[in-house]
Amino acid sequence: MAAYDLLIRGATILTASESFAADLGVSNERIAAVGALSGPAKTELDARGLIAAPGGIDAHTHLDMPYGGGATADDFRTGTTAALFGGTTTIIDFATQSRGGSLTAALDQWHAKAAGRALADYAFHMAITDMSAAAGRDMARMVREGVTSFKLYMAYPGVLMSDDAAVLRALQRSNEVGALVGLHCENGAAIAELVRQARAQGHTETRWHALTRPPEAEAEAVRRAAALASMAGAPVYVVHLSSAAGLEEVRRARLRGVPVLAETCPQYLYLDAQEYERPAASAVNFVIAPPLRAKSNQDALWQALAGGEFQAVATDHCSFPRRSRPGQPGKDRGLKDFSRIPGGAPGLETRMPLMWEAVQKGRISPSRFVETTSTGPAKVFGLYPRKGHLGPGADADIVLIDPKHKTTINAKSLHHAVDYTPFEGLSIHGAIREVFLRGKHMVSQGRLLGKPGDGQYLSRGQRQFCL
Ligand code: MN
Repeated sequence: MAAYDLLIRGATILTASESFAADLGVSNERIAAVGALSGPAKTELDARGLIAAPGGIDAHTHLDMPYGGGATADDFRTGTTAALFGGTTTIIDFATQSRGGSLTAALDQWHAKAAGRALADYAFHMAITDMSAAAGRDMARMVREGVTSFKLYMAYPGVLMSDDAAVLRALQRSNEVGALVGLHCENGAAIAELVRQARAQGHTETRWHALTRPPEAEAEAVRRAAALASMAGAPVYVVHLSSAAGLEEVRRARLRGVPVLAETCPQYLYLDAQEYERPAASAVNFVIAPPLRAKSNQDALWQALAGGEFQAVATDHCSFPRRSRPGQPGKDRGLKDFSRIPGGAPGLETRMPLMWEAVQKGRISPSRFVETTSTGPAKVFGLYPRKGHLGPGADADIVLIDPKHKTTINAKSLHHAVDYTPFEGLSIHGAIREVFLRGKHMVSQGRLLGKPGDGQYLSRGQRQFCL
């Protein structure tokens, strides 16, 4: 008779392909068995009426990221605490090369930020801002250290942007070292010119953030990204796809046989550019890049999500408080000039609940919920089947959802380090009730049981996916 550390009884288990009632047996931090199980077990949990899903994986976060003389508000402690309360047990954060700095220095810095602080498991992408010969050499070392994906920016000239030659070199090199390149797809040069023109004409209001970053800027960059990927013979991953026009370019590239993977975010599915018409003090809180789009984009994104065209739903969690403090840039920096608003918003804790709401509303299937919040990113980023999977041998990262619970999203009830959520007031069905990380009970009915340091670094393997 098997002895389990933990036996979860009678949940409805969801995977990326099926749904069934079963017990989950956990031993030595891993799922030992799934089925009709008998004990004994050190701990038993009656999960009848609850949904069990694999712990969420958020493949796009910016914790403790240097910005404007300070950093993003959430560090690895607060960010991963919020993640856990929202059912996310693994994050992939962007270690970011400083201009003139090396990839290895950036990786060391991000390890120092996370070690001993994280409550969820974590891995790193490496954001390359200077695709030098040395960076190209260091890409191989990054892969050996478990950093098997890189990101380059096609936006933010003079700060983060890589030109087409650099993007092409990174794509070519990614093939040699067995990595995947992700791209922020917006035409940075055109946007910079539109921003310059708007300011010269005295346009300072927040709405100009969106007007100077039109969907065409995303669509053009997606098209160029696909062309560069095709020239390099490499796949490419489009981060935070936001518009119907951008989605069309992803589709066209796939029809030509170019493997373009894509991620979208809850903010593009649930919010729209009307938020920029609020008074400035409120509108600035919705400034992200790409910007929120006209509502007419949302149906296309939902349909693509339902149809399996997105491999992942991530947050781009990049939090700034509403008011600046010494050493802490806030959204109020840009009240009088849209081009000075720190870009980014919190979302780690609301991602899984918002996507479960999409299941309740019939927009996506339960399996698609699992695929886009966990299994898909695990496969794309080399964590599968250790992560993203509820089956024997996988890490016992388990989320129990109470599907009947009804609640309203409210910043006061969230655990991130800033004083707002862009999703304030949205009513949703379902609540994240219990969260286990490698078998350890981390969150129980709104109480935090885990502690800083419970999260471990994940050395990732190579991508595994098919389109
Ligand atoms: Mn980002």
